[in-house]
Order: sequence, then C-alpha cells, then structure tokens
Amino acid sequence: MATGDDLLKRIISHSKEYGFVFPSSEIYDGLSATYDYGQYGAELKKNIREYWWKSMVQLNDNIVGIDAAIFMHPTTWKASGHVDAFNDPLIDNKDSKKRYRADVLLEDYMEKIRIQKIQKEVTKAESRFGENFDKEMFVKTNPRVVGYQEKIDEVSSKMRDLLASDNLGGLKKLIEELGIVCPISGTSNWTDVRQFNLMFSTELGSTTDDASKIYLRPETCQGIFVNFLNVQKTGRMKIPFGIAQTGKAFRNEIVARQFIFRMREFEQMEMQFFVKPGEEMAWYEYWKESRMKWHNALGMGEENYRIHDHIKLAHYANAACDIEFDFPMGFKELEGIHSRTDFDLKSHEEASGKKLQYFDPVENKNYIPYVIETSIGLDRMFLAVLSSSLCEEKLEDGSERTVLRIPAPLAPVKCAILPLLKKDGLPEKGTEILNELRYDFNLQYDEKDAIGKRYRRQDAIGTPYCVTVDHQTLEDNTVTLRERDSMTQIRVSVSELKSTLNAKTNMNVLLAKL
Ligand code: ATP
Repeated sequence: MATGDDLLKRIISHSKEYGFVFPSSEIYDGLSATYDYGQYGAELKKNIREYWWKSMVQLNDNIVGIDAAIFMHPTTWKASGHVDAFNDPLIDNKDSKKRYRADVLLEDYMEKIRIQKIQKEVTKAESRFGENFDKEMFVKTNPRVVGYQEKIDEVSSKMRDLLASDNLGGLKKLIEELGIVCPISGTSNWTDVRQFNLMFSTELGSTTDDASKIYLRPETCQGIFVNFLNVQKTGRMKIPFGIAQTGKAFRNEIVARQFIFRMREFEQMEMQFFVKPGEEMAWYEYWKESRMKWHNALGMGEENYRIHDHIKLAHYANAACDIEFDFPMGFKELEGIHSRTDFDLKSHEEASGKKLQYFDPVENKNYIPYVIETSIGLDRMFLAVLSSSLCEEKLEDGSERTVLRIPAPLAPVKCAILPLLKKDGLPEKGTEILNELRYDFNLQYDEKDAIGKRYRRQDAIGTPYCVTVDHQTLEDNTVTLRERDSMTQIRVSVSELKSTLNAKTNMNVLLAKL
C-alpha cells in the first residue's frame, strides 16, 4: 500500500471517484481549501458526528448539547481575543511574490528530513535486511537516523518557543539559518514575518459602518461560553457539567493544502466541561483518557495515535495537549484538550457586564467555573478514518481489490442487497428484504453487473456486508452473507439478518466500549 504523499493522493482520488469528497464548485475549477462531501462522504461524516454526540450527550447525565448561531455579537470576538490576536505569522518571498505561513515553512523543512532522509534510510535497510527487518529498533538505534531525528526535534522546539513568545524576528532568522528557500522561486529573499488575522468578516444589514461588521465564527466554543448561564439555569445543571456542540467554523487559513486536513470552512465538535476551580487537573486527566478511549474503540490502531503535551502554554491555559494521528503527512493534531481556567467566562463577564457565575449550593458561594475543553475537527477525523481504512490488496487468485476497512458502525452503507440474477423472481425477493431492513439500516440495492464486480463496488465504499439473493432463497428463505474484510460467505436465514447486522454495524457496538 502507498505511504506518505502517494497515500494522500490515493485518498484524494478515491474520495472523488467514489462520491466521498469533491472539490467545492468544481465546474468552476474549485475554490481553494474548500470541499464538498458527496453521497457517501455525507453519510460517513454524519456517522462520526453521531458517534461523538452520543458518546458525549447520551452517555453522560451531566452533558447537554446545544446549537448556537454561526453569527455572534462582534464583541464576542473582542472578548475572546480573536480580534486582536487570532493571527498567523506570514512571510513573503520577494521574488515569487508568494506568501507562506512561517511555521508551515519550518514544518515542511522537518517533513522533508523525515521523508527524504529518514524514510530513505529505512527503505534502504528494509531491502537489505528483508523479512528480519525491525523498523522500530532501526529507527531508535541507527546513528544517521537518530541524528536526523535530533535535528527535527531541535527545529521543532525552537519553532514552538518562537511562536509562543510571538518572536517574529526570531522566526525569520530561523528560516534563514536553515537555508529554507521558496519552492517556487528557489530563493531565500524573504520579507519580515508579519501577523495576519484569520477571521472572515462580513456586513450585517445594509449599512456599512463599523458597528455592523460581524465575523463568521472561527471556533464553535464561544457559542457555548455565552450560553453558559442560559443552559445552567434552564437545565438546572450542577457543577461539574458539560455543554457540547458540533458545527461549522471558518478560518482564512493561508496555507491551503493537505486536502480536508486544513480547510477554510470546516466542522468542529467541541465540549466545554465546567468544574470547580482547583479540580480542573483531575478532570483534565479524565478527559484525556476518555477521549483516547473514544478513539481506540474504533479499532483504527492504537499505534496511530499519540499524545503531545504542550510545554509552552497559552496565557489562559494551565494544561494542554493534542491527540495526534498518524496521517499520510505524518503525526499531526487531530484533537486538542485544554484546561482553560476561567479565562473565557471572565472575559465575557468583563466585556458584557453580565455576571457569568455559578452558585454552588454545597459551598454556598458564587464563583466562575474553570473549563476543560475537548475540541476535535470532524473533517480531520474523517481523513483519519480514510487514512487508516484505505487498503489495496492482492487476492489469492492473483486479482486485486481496493477496500475501505471503515469501522462498521461508521460505514456509509451498512449492507448491500444483491439479487444474483435479474430474473426468476430474485429482484422481487431482494426488494422484499430491502424493504424489511431499510427502517434499521442504510442499505443499497444493486442488480447490475456480475456479482464479483458488485462486491468490489461495495468494498470500495466500505460496505461491511453484502447479501446475495439466489434461487435457494426462494426455496428456504436463506441468503449468502458476505463479510467485507475477511470476504467469508455464510448462509443465513433472512429472519436472522437484522440481528446479525445489528451485532456488527450498530453504533451501540462502539458506544458499549466506552
Ligand atoms: P492547527 O494547529 O492544525 O492549525 P489549531 O490548534 O489551530 O490547529 P484548534 O483551534 O485547537 O486547532 O481547533 C480544534 C480542532 O479543529 C483541531 O484539533 C483540528 O482538528 C480542527 N481544525 C482546526 N483548524 C482546522 C482547519 N483549518 N481545517 C480543518 N480542521 C481544523
């Protein structure tokens, strides 16, 4: 199977060919860093969202969900710090006139070492040692590889320090010291690094004065903070409690690459958990563990996840980490977990002049709760699912198949009903089974082409089961049930189908593991 850039290209082309993700407004040549989800993509996305929502709202007595507006009062973004500080460090190449994010140039530099140096050594050693090759050991002990890794770590730590201290001059100096050149012009003729605000703005109503300028939300959590008391009071919530929300967020990201990993319009799934000050560290650890459990229940490989603890913290946080996933581009942030103290509620209290405090009946006093936030990008999760599930396999008979091993409860289509022939009453029997099961499962009916070809089509969209209706079905009401991953076929009675499919594809299978 392809890796790295090749794997990403395979995922992009597979997504397009099979109706998962299309470039936005493609007939007009697309719109950069914006994508549309097709018929299967929308289903997969919906299932991931549902898995997240149910795990938060349905499984926790003390978490409720809301759906706040995308447009918010402009002072929200003043209070949150986004108007003044939601910036990216940008640098221009004077020769090509191209603009880059300074931190992304440095990330790319490190990625190049990873792919061009480390991967090359690994591939060389792999072919030298053959079957006995122990990649993990080799990467840990080979002096050349260790040296490259140390260089990456050094650049990464310098970069984080410079970003955390807003040292723009230092970022430029580091880019120059490393000899990083513009990929277009090939020169290192750089401007100074400048800050650029990532929020999209628009006009409210028909006047054009400043007062009517509003923003498209760059994150969903502010809708939760401003509704904190509304929810607490109307839901009679007692601390600790959480508010969850999923929805679109917008960022004018300057670097528009890596498919749906970084988009200008994307979807977040965020939960703010309000706790008593002083208890936040225990809850931070709780949510770290709980979120990893959510990921691991999917069975996409524990080795594909790692936790990156932030050493330098944002001024309002007293602990933070990222859950990183091994995407085709390497380990990158998939989800953030942050202990945000009382920063957000306090800022909104100051900016609005309204009290955002909780009356603790046990302590008999008012206080501003502390907040633990879990924040995951739905689109990034979608890419993680595709990255770990796209497989190209050689079969025993020498043929090949492309299969999406999507965790069954997330699969867009749960089962395909396939009459072996388009005659002899088989389509009618197939339709009867379809109509019986369609209230419980998203199904597909397909009677076109040879059965092998139909199986391949379902493999390519990740359908966990295929039901084949044949002449025997008409006699004894049994069908062939084919499983996607093992390709095993068993004979089952039509009356057992519902329970068999439920046992593997129902969302509860995942939720029960949490
Ligand atoms: P990054 O460092 O990758 O830009 P971030 O730290 O700015 O991400 P957060 O503000 O913490 O991200 O947002 C929470 C989550 O939202 C991220 O973990 C990620 O999954 C998702 N996310 C953020 N920006 C984008 C984007 N432009 N496109 C898709 N998903 C995004």
